[in-house]
Amino acid sequence: MVEKRIIECPFCGKLSVDCIYFPPVLQTTVTRVSAKTSTQFYKTKEKYEVQSSCPNCGKSVKEIQKALDEGKRDPEKDKKILKRLKEQGLDFTTIKTKF
Ligand SMILES: [Zn+2]
Repeated sequence: MVEKRIIECPFCGKLSVDCIYFPPVLQTTVTRVSAKTSTQFYKTKEKYEVQSSCPNCGKSVKEIQKALDEGKRDPEKDKKILKRLKEQGLDFTTIKTKF
C-alpha cells in the first residue's frame, strides 16, 4: 500500500523528511519453455518520493531525492555496519578521532 512516511535524511540522518512510500509489488510473468508453462514471480523495487526538504541540514527535495535514487547512502545499511563494528569491539567514533 502506498503510504506517507517520514524517513531519515540521507545527508544528516535525522528522521525529518516527508515522503511517499511505494512498496515493492509482486508481479508475475508467464514463460513458455518447450510446451511447459511456468509462472515466475518477481518483485518491483520499493520507491520513495520525497515531499519535503530537510529542516535540519537544509538539503532540498531534489538533492534528497537524487541521493535516495542513487542509493549513495542507505541509513539502514550504515547502521548495520556500525552495529557490526561495535560488536567486534570497534567503535567507529574512536577510530575517527585517532587519525
Ligand atoms: Zn538532513
